[in-house]
Amino acid sequence: MRQPFRLEFRHAGEFLLIGGWKEVSLVDVLEHSSFTLWLALCNLKCPWCSNADVARGLTARVVSVADIVEIVDHAKSFVDVLHVTGGEPTLQLNALKRLFKSVTEKVGLPVSLSTNGTMPEALSALSPFLYHVAIDIKAPLDEPRLYATATGISEQLAQKLVSKIIESVKVSLEVPNIELRTTLVPDVINSKDVLKAAVGLEEVLKNAKGRVAYVVQQFIPYEGVRGPFSRKKATPSREVIRCAEYLASVLSVEVYYRTLEEGTRKVR
Ligand code: SF4
Repeated sequence: MRQPFRLEFRHAGEFLLIGGWKEVSLVDVLEHSSFTLWLALCNLKCPWCSNADVARGLTARVVSVADIVEIVDHAKSFVDVLHVTGGEPTLQLNALKRLFKSVTEKVGLPVSLSTNGTMPEALSALSPFLYHVAIDIKAPLDEPRLYATATGISEQLAQKLVSKIIESVKVSLEVPNIELRTTLVPDVINSKDVLKAAVGLEEVLKNAKGRVAYVVQQFIPYEGVRGPFSRKKATPSREVIRCAEYLASVLSVEVYYRTLEEGTRKVR
């Protein structure tokens, strides 16, 4: 059986454990093209994760930050931003900081981060570099039991993490572009849950300095999904659209939906 990698490098700040990269992506950052880099390992175990092998560290390799910077530099003319996702990128804080510093200062490309929001201290250290941050709101943050089900962790741990995620949203208020994402997951997260998750953060978001968008996402059984969720059907796109339209009628921020059929579309 393959064993997950562990972050026990002598020079942890100089190397990244990565799942791979895509030189030009049009789907990861709202209205921008990106060089997208996937970092391995995650501290959650969402049973519907579309990148389960990368999140568990089963598909991963070590690459130096210097090499990644060079590769991004070669691709920079084709993209608007460097987007780092995972897994949970903030688990590799030191190397990520080094990467963001080099890419903003030497390559001259804005950077974007996708995170599950469970590490506000790390996000706080990274936020001065960020042009865009996407935070996953997996479930209403006042429902730790549902958050635990959606993320495959114990309710006890979920109780601690939900307040960390609110902290992460607060930490992000200075970032020029904030994107919050909730996925409609069959038999786990429904439209009412999405609404509750979004409305629960509205008060905090009023203090945002820049642009805020809430994105309702479709669950898609991509080939990276493992276990029972790999056999589930995608959330019907009409359900995703209806949910986003309703959200737009009650929220004061921009609302989008993201489906396989239509890509990412703005409702309002
Ligand atoms: S937080 Fe994201 S990467 Fe981690 S297990 Fe959940 S869906 Fe996968």
